[in-house]
Amino acid sequence: MKKGFKIIVLAKQVPDTHNVGKDAMKEDGTMNRAALPAIINPEDLNALEQALRIKDNYPETQITVLTMGLPKAAEVLKEGLYRGADKGILLTDRKLGGSDTLATSYAIAQAIKNVGDYDMVLCGRQAIDGDTAQVGPQAAEKLGIPQITYAEEIENLAESSITVRRRLESGVETVRAPFPVLITVHGSAAPCRTRNAKFYMKNKNDESKIFTWSADDIKVEDDKVGKAGSPTTVKKIDSVVLQAKESKKLTDSDNDIDVLIKDLLSNHILG
Ligand SMILES: Cc1cc2nc3c(=O)[nH]c(=O)nc-3n(C[C@H](O)[C@H](O)[C@H](O)COP(=O)(O)OP(=O)(O)OC[C@H]3O[C@@H](n4cnc5c(N)ncnc54)[C@H](O)[C@@H]3O)c2cc1C
Repeated sequence: MKKGFKIIVLAKQVPDTHNVGKDAMKEDGTMNRAALPAIINPEDLNALEQALRIKDNYPETQITVLTMGLPKAAEVLKEGLYRGADKGILLTDRKLGGSDTLATSYAIAQAIKNVGDYDMVLCGRQAIDGDTAQVGPQAAEKLGIPQITYAEEIENLAESSITVRRRLESGVETVRAPFPVLITVHGSAAPCRTRNAKFYMKNKNDESKIFTWSADDIKVEDDKVGKAGSPTTVKKIDSVVLQAKESKKLTDSDNDIDVLIKDLLSNHILG
């Protein structure tokens, strides 16, 4: 049995859309990223925890956190090191700016190929800003490896395969896949442990475990990244403002509940 696994964790720096203040939106309805604190995408932390649990049981495991973004995204790599990851790769280049999910997953897949030897890639199911849940599956497709989506818990690790419980809308499913495999981790998986004081002190002023790669380092074809490689365009953005035009006050009396149910039935909201 292996003494350790080679794991790549994908982590995206996102604006903290759960803490939206009054300056969060610009007048044109687009997000004012500067007014929102930057955090690690929450489900990427669930993915990191799964990797750290493997390292707890197989101490020779090597965890590399990979992010694509602006130079500031190196912060998420540091957060990974503070929690127990071994190194971080920052993929940053002007050529990659404006990439949609197709171009992002291509660049990420190229970076993973550049890492070379790995058993599994763990990533979040979905990013809270882009919200597409496409990058993981697209990267797996480009790498030509199996994928397990919506993972909730790793149930078993064997020499050449992994068994994972998936969280589905209607229940759970347990599946097995051979290595190398890409796994997207669901928010219902175990939360990530907090920073470890020892790892924090060790890595706070040490930049030697953070590696910065450019588009040329990962040998991307220029027309497959950035705006040139992104067939998706944002056509129009509408701000949806919900307004209560009519309201009715009801108490918890049997009569009021009866009235409410009759209303809902007559409006075909209940049927
Ligand atoms: C026309 C267009 C232009 C865009 N221009 C820009 C731009 O200029 N700048 C910009 O920041 N965004 C831009 N975006 C958004 C960008 O395409 C998405 O943020 C990106 O492709 C990831 O998609 P997502 O957020 O839906 O991630 P999802 O597919 O929901 O993410 C799933 C998981 O994949 C991993 N992942 C996703 N993205 C990254 C990443 N960057 N690094 C590491 N792991 C990752 C994470 O583990 C994440 O949990 C643009 C989008 C469009 C459509």
